[in-house]
Amino acid sequence: IQRTFSIIKPDATRRNLTGKINAKFEEAGLRVVAQKRIHLSKAQAGEFYKVHAERPFYDELCEFMASAPIVAQVLEGEDAIAKNREVMGATNPADADAGTIRAEFAESVGENSVHGSDAPETAAEEIAYFFSGLELV
Ligand code: ATP
Ligand code: MG
Repeated sequence: IQRTFSIIKPDATRRNLTGKINAKFEEAGLRVVAQKRIHLSKAQAGEFYKVHAERPFYDELCEFMASAPIVAQVLEGEDAIAKNREVMGATNPADADAGTIRAEFAESVGENSVHGSDAPETAAEEIAYFFSGLELV
């Protein structure tokens, strides 16, 4: 059993899609074990996505992530990191497989509805950045 970190991004919270996205996770065998709605500042968004600081879309990405509340989550399940990436679909919704969250809900490569950790180290780091031990049972 593994845990991963997930974000329902501003484009999705704005369109009231949290429940529909959580249903996709649950159908895939992922359990939402922690969840909270927060509104990041641009600086906090920048800290979270700092690996992309040199990319041309970084400023736009930080603006977007701070543009409305997000839902930060911990998902648990067998092979949760890979399974979550599978359910999310490709970064660009135009390339995402049918039935994936991004194929169904994402608006563009930037406003793509969800984030999911890409490896065990980043999952652990991202969970610890957003949740205290008390919030994780
Ligand atoms: P995430 O890290 O959010 O789960 P990902 O791992 O599929 O997504 P990354 O390459 O890590 O994709 O990019 C991080 C985020 O940056 C993307 O989810 C998207 O919101 C944004 N992004 C990536 N590429 C572009 C682009 N070409 N133009 C605009 N925004 C982009
Ligand atoms: Mg990524």
